[in-house]
Amino acid sequence: MTTPDTAANERTDQYITPGHLACPGCGATLAMQWVLSVLGKDTVLGLPACCFSIISGAFPHTPMNVNLVHTAFETGAAIASGLKAGLEATGRGHAHVVSWAGDGGTFDIGLQALSGAAERNEDIIYVCYDNEAYMNTGNQRSSATPRFARTTTSPAGESMHKKDILAIMAAHGIPYAASASIAFPDDLTAKVEKAKHITGTRFLHILVACPTGWRMPSDMTITAARLAVETGVFPLIEIENGERTTITYLPEPRIPLAEYLSIQGRFSGMSKDEIAEIQRWVNERWERLMKTADVSVP
Ligand code: SF4
Repeated sequence: MTTPDTAANERTDQYITPGHLACPGCGATLAMQWVLSVLGKDTVLGLPACCFSIISGAFPHTPMNVNLVHTAFETGAAIASGLKAGLEATGRGHAHVVSWAGDGGTFDIGLQALSGAAERNEDIIYVCYDNEAYMNTGNQRSSATPRFARTTTSPAGESMHKKDILAIMAAHGIPYAASASIAFPDDLTAKVEKAKHITGTRFLHILVACPTGWRMPSDMTITAARLAVETGVFPLIEIENGERTTITYLPEPRIPLAEYLSIQGRFSGMSKDEIAEIQRWVNERWERLMKTADVSVP
């Protein structure tokens, strides 16, 4: 494995103060810190139902140092579109409007509003922080849950492969769509910086390891997030204007998938055949990606 990034770690601004309500080791709070460290305080968040509805506290108490609006589950992108229009109408259009949603609010419940906003090319940044299930309500499977992962609604292991949300969003032809990881903060913050200077709909898919739902110790967050990338389960890429795909980190050699699966209780009990099947799925996706993408690794 490579050494952890350093430049991004030197950022010191705190956008979530201590005392927030996330579980110990929560990857979602790291993602929020990294994103806001680039966008700054002139940012307005729209928060559809998700773990961050809890983490950000109940009015008038909040650990957040930016303005935010809680929204209904299905309305993340619609509310963000309205917020941007309202800010522009009142002379504050320079503020960044971010819809910050989990995988349930993005892959499933909020997809209709998100697709509409992307079609209109609304001038918003949509961040999906993906912990691969409905963790806020007790770990029910979503269409981001990986095959064979055990959740409360897939106790024998999820039967479907994860939906390719980045490809779906890129198919709208939006100016910028990218995947990022909390274990690669330099890559993550570079993508936020790029998105910050683009007008139109920008979509960031950030995998956030979740000790509670992934059933692992709270000090394994970064290890799990890094292994997701190093095994090729979660490629770091960007797609510009729905056409140009670039791999921004090339895991070479890719680590066998079993190493990633074995540290997470949600994959316990998988047979050798099931692990081999997932490994085959990952390999096929990588081969396809390598045929169609450029590689640009700093
Ligand atoms: S359930 Fe997971 S994503 Fe949600 S607050 Fe806890 S650690 Fe974070």
